[in-house]
Amino acid sequence: MNAASVLAPTALHAIAEHPHCLGLYSQGNPGPVIVAIGSMHGNEPGGVLAAERVLSRLANDTPPFNGTLIALKGNVTAYEANQRFITRDLNRLWYEPELASLRTIDPKDMSAEDRQQKALFQLFEHLHNLSSEPVIFIDLHSTSSHSHPFCMAADTLRNRRIAFQLPLPLVLGLEESINGTMLGLLSDWGHITMAVEGGQHVHPNTSFNLESVVWLALVLAGNLDKTDLADYDKHENRLKKLAKGFPSVSEVRYRHKVEPGDRFIMEPGFSNFQPVKQDTLLAQDCEGPILAAESGLVLMPLYQSQGEDGFFLVREVMPAWLHLSALLRRLHVDKLLPLMPGIRKHPHLPDHFITRHQSDHTWLLDLLHMLGYRKRRIIDGQLIFSRRRPDHVNQEARQTPQ
Ligand SMILES: [Zn+2]
Repeated sequence: MNAASVLAPTALHAIAEHPHCLGLYSQGNPGPVIVAIGSMHGNEPGGVLAAERVLSRLANDTPPFNGTLIALKGNVTAYEANQRFITRDLNRLWYEPELASLRTIDPKDMSAEDRQQKALFQLFEHLHNLSSEPVIFIDLHSTSSHSHPFCMAADTLRNRRIAFQLPLPLVLGLEESINGTMLGLLSDWGHITMAVEGGQHVHPNTSFNLESVVWLALVLAGNLDKTDLADYDKHENRLKKLAKGFPSVSEVRYRHKVEPGDRFIMEPGFSNFQPVKQDTLLAQDCEGPILAAESGLVLMPLYQSQGEDGFFLVREVMPAWLHLSALLRRLHVDKLLPLMPGIRKHPHLPDHFITRHQSDHTWLLDLLHMLGYRKRRIIDGQLIFSRRRPDHVNQEARQTPQ
């Protein structure tokens, strides 16, 4: 482990004083920096409770510990009001130019979320500049509907190290299908990122599920040795039991975005990973019935009034696909993409390709997903696919295209 991953006592002190910091733990040994974030959505208390329990036990038991655990509270203001957000979703608009502009805006013209985003962004920049190794960010969430826990990670090889070993269903590509998430920015900076949905917002088990995730992540990352965690098996078995019967790895195929004024209402009775056939009635909005665009598994059906994602459709990914995709990425096969008709490299942006094909060409989507290119946008009338930055990049080299 690089010596630079020892955070100096002065740096730790500054982080501990940050208004979003719940607490941190370090014994001054080198090792990975893990950041656990709870309540990015204020009506999701489970992550904060989980992180507080982990910190309190580490302080009491003092097992041998490498590196640093930092626990943060996301939307402090909405947490106090017990609502998802005050004026806008804090887990959106994490675009570097907009965030930099928050530095110069008069605080009285800022919304509650603007102020918190500015504070969190400055903390992340500070951590990014302190660390020569990727920081591990775990964003702890919960869902409006009753749900078993699952994990989401951007489809980068570095994310597979921990996310693939957590005994939870893993969904790839969800973060790439939503623009401007906090983890999207941190992933573009080259860090290891994953989000975990621990269960229903106020279900008593949700915070315990998230606590088990944090303990296992500390072991998988190398902060803790599992022999020093007496109840490691209990945490692992808790998650394994909850994951039983669900696909180990799946990928997002479709996201239903909810716009303000849509009057979106999800049909009752859907739960995570529930299989649906193409054309199944899933929801209604002001334009009428919303049917499943393809057969697949429903994920995160929206059963609360606030939220921009109506539902997702995912499908299972086979282990052979994962092995092949890792091999092709290590061989940098994406460099050959411009040899295919209708695909060219973006002239300025790294890890971006422009295509003149339709986005619904299944062969194209499958190929690009295999190579990690899951984010698609129309820019200046052109269909552009991009992936999260594959490497850890330093401050000077980083570039966060929107
Ligand atoms: Zn959430």
